[in-house]
Amino acid sequence: MLLQTESSAVSGLDQNKPKKTEAPSQQTNENVQHRAQPIRLSVADMASNAWEFLFRGQNRTPDIPLPHTPVALSYFMNLAGGQLNVTWLGHSSLMINIGGYRILVDPVFEKRISLIGPTRFNGSVPLDIDDVPQVDAVVISHDHYDHLNKFSVEQLRPKTSKFIVPLGVGDLIKKWGVPRQKIIELDWWQEFHFDTQLMFAATPAQHFSGRGLMDRNERLWSSWVIKTPCHRLFFSGDSGYFEGFKQIGETYGPFDMTFIECGAYNKAWAQVHLFPEKTVQAHLDLKGKVLHPIHWGTFNLAMHSWYEPMERLLAEAKARQIGIAIPMVGETTRYGELLPVAMWWREAIEQKTETKKENS
Ligand SMILES: [Zn+2]
Repeated sequence: MLLQTESSAVSGLDQNKPKKTEAPSQQTNENVQHRAQPIRLSVADMASNAWEFLFRGQNRTPDIPLPHTPVALSYFMNLAGGQLNVTWLGHSSLMINIGGYRILVDPVFEKRISLIGPTRFNGSVPLDIDDVPQVDAVVISHDHYDHLNKFSVEQLRPKTSKFIVPLGVGDLIKKWGVPRQKIIELDWWQEFHFDTQLMFAATPAQHFSGRGLMDRNERLWSSWVIKTPCHRLFFSGDSGYFEGFKQIGETYGPFDMTFIECGAYNKAWAQVHLFPEKTVQAHLDLKGKVLHPIHWGTFNLAMHSWYEPMERLLAEAKARQIGIAIPMVGETTRYGELLPVAMWWREAIEQKTETKKENS
């Protein structure tokens, strides 16, 4: 027996070939709704999920606070052209310096993602939002609380002239006080040319949206391509595995770096989140050079152990021989230099094992 749940995934792609336009979209919410497809879960699946969530799922949070590095702002502030450096702020929040342009992606500068939401594994945000300098653009993938944070948008409002968001998200941040002239709202496959050197493209993702029970799939969700003459980046937002990765790779690849989600997976959520092995497959589909995993190691949002995503991803990356960057929260990855590959999270696992031994 199949039941339709309240959650919805999306069909992923329009069958049409990508159509690139430079103007922000005028299309309405209907455009978003038609991409929605119900997730169907059997009663058995739902019962087993509820059981897992309530009674099982060991090690979902670390026993000791995870380490983090204070952000060295000098990398982000550097105005030199031709460079690419990226600072991981935890979960899916990134500070990107691409050719001297400063971009924030899915910035969440709060300890908790919502009033009752989970807190950070590493205690605090690695950079105070007051210390964030002026930025060229803030990019948002979708309206879920762990990607779109009201406090951060309000604080960043005077620090940028551009919020680049998927269709429908503009109305929400306008309500939070962002002036309409600062908002660039794009449909999938639409591009925004910041100037002659820097381009953003909203690209498809297989996910869903909504911040409450009444706004399900009212706003679009997307992945993003960011491109300069020297470098190309892909940011997944949240997405299940779908053929869109190949299409994006063919249209905008190859990518110097891909930032792809690898945590918060579950059999029942396979349509809307990636298993770590699929993260690696998506990176290959996209024709990526260096994979920087995101959406892990920060908040307890799923039923797997907190470290499982990276252990599985590492094994797959090794088997498929791909380059990866696995910084600590707050650490900066400088493209073209030595990539961060230290397995810093294993100390937290080992420390727990040691404590157990001592107590037994
Ligand atoms: Zn999401």
